Amino acid sequence: MESDVTRRGVMGLGLGAALTIPAAASFAAATPARARAPGSVGIAVVGLGKLSLGQILPALKLTKNAHLAALVSGKPEKARKVAAEFGLPDTAIYTYDTFDRIADDPGIQIVYIVLPNSMHAEFTIRAFKAGKHVLCEKPMAVTLEECERMIAAGKAAKRQLMIAYRCQFEPVNVTAMRILRDGTIGTPRLVSAVMGKQTDLSDPSDAWRLDMAMSGGGALADMGIYGINATRYLLLEEPVEVRGWARTDRNDPRFKTVDDMIAWQMRFPSGAIGEGSSCFSQPGTMSWQAIGSDRRLVADPGCFYGGNTLRIVGGKGDVQPSVAEIDQFGNEMNWFADVVRGRSPNIAPGEEGMQDMRILHAIMRSVANGGASVKIDAGYKRAHDPATTVGIRTSI
Ligand code: NAD
Repeated sequence: MESDVTRRGVMGLGLGAALTIPAAASFAAATPARARAPGSVGIAVVGLGKLSLGQILPALKLTKNAHLAALVSGKPEKARKVAAEFGLPDTAIYTYDTFDRIADDPGIQIVYIVLPNSMHAEFTIRAFKAGKHVLCEKPMAVTLEECERMIAAGKAAKRQLMIAYRCQFEPVNVTAMRILRDGTIGTPRLVSAVMGKQTDLSDPSDAWRLDMAMSGGGALADMGIYGINATRYLLLEEPVEVRGWARTDRNDPRFKTVDDMIAWQMRFPSGAIGEGSSCFSQPGTMSWQAIGSDRRLVADPGCFYGGNTLRIVGGKGDVQPSVAEIDQFGNEMNWFADVVRGRSPNIAPGEEGMQDMRILHAIMRSVANGGASVKIDAGYKRAHDPATTVGIRTSI
């Protein structure tokens, strides 16, 4: 049977025709907001762009622990339409200017920031000032200094900050982590990740991604981050050295301020190598493979919104573990609702988002220096392994 997430577009991420953004009318069957199970946590979604409309709001129809409590948008007409279809009153609609008034709305416990990357820090800090918990989209921010301020603001407010790494809640990726941990493919030698899509300057959702000030790093910040994060959670260790190279056609109007393709290598203390690439001028791809001393683990696609697959290659023959599909956005929001209720650990706190930012910036520094080696020694260590904390969940 076709799953809900498959209907919403298996490729997602704006990767061509397979991305389906539901018309507002398709929200009509939604459960009225604020009428959820007792204890369900209210979420205010900030920014009503492609990700919110296509994935996050539909997922909030499925979640048991969390429900849509408010919308924050610069476009009142659009917000009213979506609110009506979710049974939200007009009083639950905020603009970017009236956002701070959420402090007086006890129905909102979590603010989910789904804005261009350069706006993450500002709205995260304002949400903490309003006394709310924050789920913030990846990449965490644009600069490391912003990451530090976001983490400090959360600590000062005694509120949780989680970075929305959906793949850490996605069953194919969690299954892969478990396969790597149990030694099925032997000692991990190499993780190789390829992340990219075609971009279109005339699409407003791509235009800011192609702007260095707003995206903080083009394809690397937007899609390469999945490969970097996957390499780290698959190997369960942190890189100590990186290098990067870029291939960019500066005559292409898309690449005036950001690089197009960046390829990187990462060296890990165990001796494992991570390599990968991100690109904004290629067909939609989100794949990775882990090569062990005995076998290979291939996920292609590995990080789509749905339809991800896993193959263990080599040994006595290829095996394709069957993994039940689940709405990864719903799983992630349910999890964060439990984090703020004190029932689950925060597996992707600000420090986890900042570690990726540190690596992204190190790769960009290497690119700027002709591929020179850049050492990373931040002492970051993941507090919780998603393989054992999140585990394989079959329902949300
Ligand atoms: P989008 O451009 O489709 O939506 C962004 C929203 O922000 C729009 O509603 C837009 O109107 C609003 N906005 C407010 N001020 C703006 C400004 N100055 N310039 C441009 N837009 C402005 O983007 P999106 O694809 O929904 O991405 C939003 C965030 O979600 C980004 O941080 C992105 O990296 C992240 N994202 C994550 C995933 C994932 O799988 N986790 C997928 C896509 C996007």
